[in-house]
Amino acid sequence: MPDLLVLSGCLLLGLVFGSFANVVIARVPAGGSLHTPPSTCPRCAAPIRPYDNIPVVSWLLLRARCRSCEASISVEYPLVEIACALLFAAIGWRIGLSWALPGFLLFGWLLLVVAVIDVHTRRIPNRLTYPLTPTLLVLLVGAALLEGTPGVALRSLLGGLVAFALLLVLALINPRGMGMGDVKLAAFIGIGLGYLGWGHLWLGLFTGFLGGGVIAGLLVVLRLRSRKDHIPFGPWLSLGALVALLVGQPLIATYLRWAGWT
Ligand SMILES: [Zn+2]
Repeated sequence: MPDLLVLSGCLLLGLVFGSFANVVIARVPAGGSLHTPPSTCPRCAAPIRPYDNIPVVSWLLLRARCRSCEASISVEYPLVEIACALLFAAIGWRIGLSWALPGFLLFGWLLLVVAVIDVHTRRIPNRLTYPLTPTLLVLLVGAALLEGTPGVALRSLLGGLVAFALLLVLALINPRGMGMGDVKLAAFIGIGLGYLGWGHLWLGLFTGFLGGGVIAGLLVVLRLRSRKDHIPFGPWLSLGALVALLVGQPLIATYLRWAGWT
């Protein structure tokens, strides 16, 4: 029985960090500062008042329009906030109140942010992966050591290295299909899934490749995209990693039973 207090705490935290995710998604690709200037309407530059900046609620109350100039506010803002809140609650349910929880909330948050930025810009900013990959490593290795499981700490580190090396080889073989941003993201994913186990890491990467590959192939077959178009791979890697984190355990158990290994 998951702790309701942990679930609702994570849900609220997810709303707040979802709101921050919107700032990061808008400003980091453009190279802007995260704290100055305060948020303004992109059209009329009117400052957004604190009471108009409440996650989801303000967007609904304002009926998706700026209070000053009535410019429409994209539905992406409340959707990112809701997605982040649900994701945080799901991570709280899966990980529970433990030393590893802050690390996995960071894990989910960055994967969500990177997926949206990659769809918008076809890039995964180093400004996010460079500082947050070592942060995740410190949080999860620290958590494993506090839990008295140094083997898990080592597996987390190795998971990051293995996933990085694997995607580096793939990017060198097929530079058009995968960018260095994806390779750096793989290191981040490897640290998180490595903490959970090698099965989770393979499942996450495999699901990402499968999703990205199947959809990319379909788009080409349906002639919606040509073979030369770059289809962003980051969202698929992120999705695969989140699937492995949230439902990896039952999936792997089912597979092992089906394969007759348990
Ligand atoms: Zn405005």
